[in-house]
Amino acid sequence: MGSNGMPRKSCEQFLENAFELLAVAPEKRQLLRSPYRELRFELPLKRDDGSISLYYGYRVQHNQSRGPFKGGLRYHKDVDLEHFVALAEIMTWKTSLLDLPFGGAKGGINCNPHELSSDELETLTKRYTQRMAMLIGPDQDIPAPDMGTRPQEMAWILDAYSHHGGFSPAVVTGKPVELGGAKGRNEATGYGVAIVTALAAEAEDIPLEEATVAIQGIGNVGAYAARFLAEKGAKIVALSDSHCGLYTEQGFDVEGVLQKVARCKEEGGQLSDLNDVFEIISNEELLELDVDILIPAAIGGVICEGNAEKIKARLVVEAANMPITCKADTVLNNQSIKILPDILANAGGVTVSYLEWVQNRQRFQWSRKRTLEELENRLTDAWEAVEQKTREEQLNYRQAAYFIAVERILKAIDLRGF
Ligand code: NAD
Repeated sequence: MGSNGMPRKSCEQFLENAFELLAVAPEKRQLLRSPYRELRFELPLKRDDGSISLYYGYRVQHNQSRGPFKGGLRYHKDVDLEHFVALAEIMTWKTSLLDLPFGGAKGGINCNPHELSSDELETLTKRYTQRMAMLIGPDQDIPAPDMGTRPQEMAWILDAYSHHGGFSPAVVTGKPVELGGAKGRNEATGYGVAIVTALAAEAEDIPLEEATVAIQGIGNVGAYAARFLAEKGAKIVALSDSHCGLYTEQGFDVEGVLQKVARCKEEGGQLSDLNDVFEIISNEELLELDVDILIPAAIGGVICEGNAEKIKARLVVEAANMPITCKADTVLNNQSIKILPDILANAGGVTVSYLEWVQNRQRFQWSRKRTLEELENRLTDAWEAVEQKTREEQLNYRQAAYFIAVERILKAIDLRGF
């Protein structure tokens, strides 16, 4: 894991496990591991002050056996090819597990978007799109927002691509609703986290109405997961951001606390300024709380060898990508702690991306209600497939999820031939 909790290497162990269970031949293992295409290209940018900055654009297209490549665009100063290889691979397993007609990809630019003006970001994004124009498209590779990118960047990509491809909203997802974005995309990942958490809690005999929940990270995913889980009756007792956490034994009024946090930040404050209302805890303490359900929803690698033995939750839901390291995964399994893997838990976003792509191709925008209902159906199907596989093969949830994802891709490869 690199700085900022960004993965630099996929979890080989999870994949190897699926390969062993499925008795995959060595040459096919190699095929499934290696990306189809890895790109790095120069992106010089003339800055507003007339100086030139040199950035690099990246795109890793991992697998397209089941459909066009699909994956986010990340703008962050520390990204590199190795980083995108790991993330593109996760997308392959995620789209397969959700039975979406896509493969996996990831890419971005090694820039700090907060240091660029809106005009500079537009130029850089459109230049990235021009460089990639031959390799992206509604049936080739469909980017989406990720860390450091927003619906605005997707709108710029749509514009740049449409100059030669004709009006093509399905070339990107996560667009503004006015340009064909799906209603409900904003809350989709957090909503999905809440849906699969509720299903797993029921299977694990953790009544949600009595369950205590700690959530690390109250960004988009964590805040919506907190809202929807509270609606389902769960008691959210801890929330955090990158600085620290808030704790209250009796459970938050989630909407109230989120408003307080937003107000406090608008005024230039920190979560710790709310110490007159809530107990302040560290992020480390939050992870080690004696709660029923722990939801790491911030960054990767937060549950590692150093703290795995101190985790007390009965169920850990990976809302962030790769929040549990491979070694920590073994420790938690040995402690009989159940883990809902990221490729299932945070798949709500890519699922609604798929629904957006479908709507764009139909030239027909669905209501938010219809989109979220379809999301719930798809996540429930994926959960039921995983749960059934755990029983049939005596696997844990992660092993079952990888088993299903890899098996579907192998099937597609075999059917298509070489
Ligand atoms: P965000 O930027 O909106 O929020 C991130 C939150 O994590 C913030 O509250 C931030 O303060 C906190 N945080 C950052 N560094 C931290 C640290 N070191 N310790 C504790 N907290 C820290 O991001 P998001 O969109 O909510 O995404 C959260 C995670 O979910 C990321 O790992 C992302 O890759 C993953 N994810 C997001 C989506 C999506 O649709 N947004 C989809 C799939 C996966």
